[in-house]
Amino acid sequence: MISRLVRFSKSGLFVGIFRTLVCNLCGEEVFDSNAAKQIEKKLQQIGLWASSKSKVYRIKGNLAVEINKTAARAVGLKKNSKIKLIPDVSQKRIIIEVT
Ligand SMILES: [Zn+2]
Repeated sequence: MISRLVRFSKSGLFVGIFRTLVCNLCGEEVFDSNAAKQIEKKLQQIGLWASSKSKVYRIKGNLAVEINKTAARAVGLKKNSKIKLIPDVSQKRIIIEVT
């Protein structure tokens, strides 16, 4: 295993520089466990961690979801953006598509 530092980005945003381990045989690159923890923490801080917590509010009988501003900016979502909601009942999720 060779250890080296790599730049890591997610959703087009630079997250940081982290240590990876590269396999001498197949060249596969994996973040070491410490780096993986640092990445998770950083993604949570900037709101791009897949399991970032959010809140649901009631507005005039409908529901509104709070979306972290970093995550919104990463996908070009703004106030009054035109979006499409795609319910995926079997997975219990709703995909928001910025149109
Ligand atoms: Zn390998």
